[in-house]
Amino acid sequence: MGKTNVRCVIGEKNSNSFLFCRFMDRKPSVTKCSWCSKNPLLERYHDEEWGIEERDPERLFECLCLEGQQAGLSWLTVLKKRQSYRERFHSFVPEKVAGMSDAEIDEALDDEGVIRLRLKLEAIRKNARAYLAFRQSGGDFSKFLWSFVNDSPVVTVPNSFADTPVRTSASDAMSKALRKLGFTFVGSTICYAFMQAVGMAVDHDAGCRFSGVPRR
Ligand SMILES: [Zn+2]
Repeated sequence: MGKTNVRCVIGEKNSNSFLFCRFMDRKPSVTKCSWCSKNPLLERYHDEEWGIEERDPERLFECLCLEGQQAGLSWLTVLKKRQSYRERFHSFVPEKVAGMSDAEIDEALDDEGVIRLRLKLEAIRKNARAYLAFRQSGGDFSKFLWSFVNDSPVVTVPNSFADTPVRTSASDAMSKALRKLGFTFVGSTICYAFMQAVGMAVDHDAGCRFSGVPRR
């Protein structure tokens, strides 16, 4: 594991704010990123999942697919439906998803527990097939994805979520590479949201108790 990159500090006083945030991290605090503060489900997701380093290739696959389902919607919408997705899509086990029949996709389209858009649901199966083809060619999906941040989390300390980028050159490159492998619903903004979710980009607000430090 390489050392952590601190990419930049937005709207604060250069490196002092990073030290300040590290100091904050050592203190008991109930402060959290503002985006999660009004909903218990989002708050729990923030506390227990968001930005924690994920290295397991199949969990990364699931996360990427779910971020793709978010396109045009809020993450909360997808989070509420996540369990239904897991039930419909075989817990995102790529072999099982890749082998799903058209009838299974049709059945999923009738389920209000998922986002009922054929293109989005078919994208999960298409992505599973791309995942398997990549693995069969000798690729390691986790190493491949982490290579876009040089195998090390990129830490930013924004004043608020509104100050975080929606895409970066790394997410642009990831998006392009995934498309080349046959993945779909992997635009650069989806890739960046995915990178935040799995700890490749650590973007907790400056006032959040998790700010400035990668979590494993
Ligand atoms: Zn936070």
